[in-house]
Amino acid sequence: MRPNRDTVLQIDLGALAHNYAYLKSRLLPGTRFLGVVKAFAYGSDAVAIARKLEALGADYLGVAFTDEGIHLRENGIGLPILVLHPQPSGINELLAHCLEPNLYSRHIFSAFLEAARAHGQKSYPVHLKFNTGLNRLGFVGKDLPWLGEQLKADASLEVRSLFSHLAASDDLGERAFTEGQIHRFRELAAESEKHLPGRPMRHLLNTSGILNYAAAQWDMVRSGIGLYGYSNDPAIDKILRPVACLKTHISQMHEVQPGDWVGYNKGFLATRPITTATLPIGHADGIGRQYGRGKGRVFIGGKAAPILGNVCMDMTLVDVTGLACREGDEVLFFGPGNSAEDFAGGAGTISYELLAGVSQRVSREIIDT
Ligand SMILES: *Cc1c(COP(=O)(O)O)cnc(C)c1O
Repeated sequence: MRPNRDTVLQIDLGALAHNYAYLKSRLLPGTRFLGVVKAFAYGSDAVAIARKLEALGADYLGVAFTDEGIHLRENGIGLPILVLHPQPSGINELLAHCLEPNLYSRHIFSAFLEAARAHGQKSYPVHLKFNTGLNRLGFVGKDLPWLGEQLKADASLEVRSLFSHLAASDDLGERAFTEGQIHRFRELAAESEKHLPGRPMRHLLNTSGILNYAAAQWDMVRSGIGLYGYSNDPAIDKILRPVACLKTHISQMHEVQPGDWVGYNKGFLATRPITTATLPIGHADGIGRQYGRGKGRVFIGGKAAPILGNVCMDMTLVDVTGLACREGDEVLFFGPGNSAEDFAGGAGTISYELLAGVSQRVSREIIDT
C-alpha cells in the first residue's frame, strides 16, 4: 500500500537505543538480553527494531508465532530467535528458518522431536517453558522425568534454556505471589539437573521483572515493553523514551451549535457553542471505540482535545473549542508529549494493548534521533 503521509506512526530508533542502554544498566554484566519483537514489535516495525537490537548487541530475539520469526529471517535477521508460542502446524517452516521453539507441552514437544528427527537434525536448539503460576503455557515438575527420557534417547534436540513467565511482576502488591513464582522456578531448575542433559540457560524476567526482581535475572532476561519506552512504573517511564509516536492532521473543523449532535448515533450533544475537528484516523487504525466519549485525549499544539462521541472506522472527532488550531494542523495521539500509558489509561487499558493495536493501515516512518 502507498504510504499515507497524513497519519504516521513514527518509530524512533534512537529512543530504542536509549531504552536498551537503560535496561542493560539495570542488569549484571553477564546477563543476556532477549528483545521481544512480537506483534510487529509491539505495533511498531519488527524488522527495523530487530535490526537495531542486533546492532546494539542484543543476544536473542523473541516472537510469539512462527510466521513472525520467518518474516525476520526473510529480512536478513541473523540473531537467534525464540518462538514463544509455536503451533504444530508450523514446525517444518520453523526448522527451515532456524527458529528456536519454546516447547511447552508434551504434545508440541513430541511433534517437534519427530520433525527434527525427520529433518536429520542434531542438537537443534529448543527451549522448555515451565508453568510456575501463570497457568497459561508450560510443563510442570512431574514432566521432568519424561522430558529427560525423551532427550536422552535421541540427540536431535539440545535444550538451550529453561524458562518461566511472571504473572504480576509489575504489581508490587503481589510481591509474595511473585516471590512464590521465583521460588518455584528455582526449585524446578534445580530438579531439572537430575533429569535433563547439559546445563541450559535459565530466564524468568520480563521488563517489570528486571525493574522489580533483579535478583532473579539468572542467565537472560526477556524485555518487550521497556524497549518501547514503558515500564508499568511512572518513575521509570520518566527515564525511558517512547519509541512510537502516532500523529495525524486535522481534516476539517466545524462550529457546532447548542442542541446539535456530533457523530454516529448522536454520540455527543453540544450544550454550548463548540468547535470540533475531524481527524482521519479511527477504530480501523487501532483507536478503538473505548476511547470515545472523552476517554481519550489528543494533543494539538500542546493542548488537550478530548474525543467527542463515538470513534468511527476512519475518523475521530475531537473538541478543539478555544484552541488556536486550523485545518491541516498536526495532532498527537501518543508519543513524546502524550504517553501511550496515559492515553490507554483513560480508557481503562494499558500501553501494551494500545501500541500493539495500531493497525497495518497506518504508515510507519523510521527515524533515529
Ligand atoms: C511478551 C512476553 C515478554 C515481554 O514482556 P514485557 O512485559 O513486554 O517486557 C516476556 N516473556 C514472555 C513469555 C512474553 O510472552
